[in-house]
Amino acid sequence: MAQASRFGAELLSPQEVTNIEVQKGGYKLLTLSDGSQLSTRSIIITTGVDYKRLNIDSLDNFTGAGVYYGAATTEGRTCQKLKVFIVGGGNSAGQAATYLSQFARQVVILNREKSLEVSMSQYLIEQLEALENVAVYNQTEIVEALGEERLEKLLLKNNTTGEEWQEEEVGALFIFIGARPHTDWLPINILKNKEGYIETGRELTRYDDYSKFWNKEREPYLLETCSPGIFAAGDVRAGAMNRVASAVGEGAMAIKFVHQYLSEH
Ligand SMILES: Cc1cc2nc3c(=O)[nH]c(=O)nc-3n(C[C@H](O)[C@H](O)[C@H](O)COP(=O)(O)OP(=O)(O)OC[C@H]3O[C@@H](n4cnc5c(N)ncnc54)[C@H](O)[C@@H]3O)c2cc1C
Repeated sequence: MAQASRFGAELLSPQEVTNIEVQKGGYKLLTLSDGSQLSTRSIIITTGVDYKRLNIDSLDNFTGAGVYYGAATTEGRTCQKLKVFIVGGGNSAGQAATYLSQFARQVVILNREKSLEVSMSQYLIEQLEALENVAVYNQTEIVEALGEERLEKLLLKNNTTGEEWQEEEVGALFIFIGARPHTDWLPINILKNKEGYIETGRELTRYDDYSKFWNKEREPYLLETCSPGIFAAGDVRAGAMNRVASAVGEGAMAIKFVHQYLSEH
C-alpha cells in the first residue's frame, strides 16, 4: 500500500464494486455499493475467491505449513515421496489426486460421503482406481491436526462407525471442499467459465459468445477479458495458480497490458 500510494495510486477502502458498465468510446463506469460512480478507461479485476474452510481450529495453525487450500499444482513437487491427504470428494479433489500421485509416495482422499460416485465424475473415479498409490477413505472426516512447526499427524474419524485413528507422517493436506469466485456482480459481457471464474486471453476464443462481445480486430491480450480494456488477475481468473506470488505477478503483468491498451487510443 505504501509503495502504491507513493506512485500516486488512490486507495478507496472499504469499498465494494457492484457493477461495471462499458460506455460509448470505451469508457467504463464503475458503481460502488454506496451508490457513487467512477469513470475510467481501463480496469483490472482482482476480486479473488471465497474458499470454504473446514471448521477445525487446530488446522488453522498449519495453514501454509502443510495445509493448503486449492493449490495442488504449485505444491506438487514439494510432495516428492511423501504421504499426502486430500479433503473433498468432487472433481477438483480428484484432479488434485491424479496430479499429486505423480510426486507423492501415497495420496489419500478423505471423502465424507459413502462413495466418490456421489460427487465425482465417473472418468475421474476410473482414473483414480487405476493409480496404485491413490487410496480413498470414504465416510472419513478430520477430527484434529497435530504437529510442532508444521502439520505432522491427523486424527481421523469414520463418521458412521465413530472409530477414530491417527495417521502419522502426514506430508501435506490439501483442501478442496469448494470455492466461489467473487464474480456474481459482473456484467454479462465479461465471460466466465461454468464455475464462475473469469476467462482471459486466448481461452476466450473457445466461447460462442466471444465474437458477440469482443469488438477489436486484434486478439485479447493475455490477461484481458472479453471486454477490451478490462483485465483480470489472481485467483478470480480461470486457470490461476492460487498462490500469492502468482496473483501479485499477474497483477504486475496486467499493468503492462493496461499501458498497451491505453496506447491504442
Ligand atoms: C486459508 C488460505 C491459506 C492460503 N495460504 C497460502 C499460502 O500459504 N501461500 C500462498 O502463496 N497462497 C496461499 N493462499 C492463496 C492466496 O491467499 C491467494 O492465492 C491470493 O490471496 C490471491 O490473491 P488475489 O489478490 O487474487 O485475491 P484475494 O487475496 O482473495 O483478494 C481479493 C480481494 O478483493 C476483495 N473483493 C472481492 N469482491 C470485491 C468487490 N466486488 N469489490 C471490491 N473488492 C472486492 C476481497 O474482499 C479481497 O480483499 C491461501 C488461501 C487461503 C484461503
